Amino acid sequence: MPRPIPGPDAQSKPFWDACNERKLKVQYCTYCNRRQFPPEQACGECGWDFHLSWLETSGRGKIIGYSVTHDTRIRAWAPEQPFNNAVIALEEDPAIKFFSNLPGVPVDQVPVGAKVQVEFLEVAPNQLIPEWRIVP
Ligand SMILES: [Zn+2]
Repeated sequence: MPRPIPGPDAQSKPFWDACNERKLKVQYCTYCNRRQFPPEQACGECGWDFHLSWLETSGRGKIIGYSVTHDTRIRAWAPEQPFNNAVIALEEDPAIKFFSNLPGVPVDQVPVGAKVQVEFLEVAPNQLIPEWRIVP
């Protein structure tokens, strides 16, 4: 499946830089003791930005649901249809969600409840992106 090449901005650059080191990081508010993803300018709880830092995650999660796309608006993905869109909850903070096409998993046969582990794919020179793989 063709992958979008990330164009990091000021908010997301620490996330993409961490991916390049094969680490999955999320924002963390030290004041609220709260993780957040995707990255935002300020903490969604206290509204302040100066308590935000970045925290490495376990890179483990669980599939909590999925859908199947039949009518994507992303032209590059049209030839791949239909494809899975799994929702993954981060192990240590299930409120943090990631999405995955789960390469190798047949369409509409996503094992909800299965454990997954992050891995990293190179989509451009020196740019890795996270992808998820089912683990026992
Ligand atoms: Zn906060």
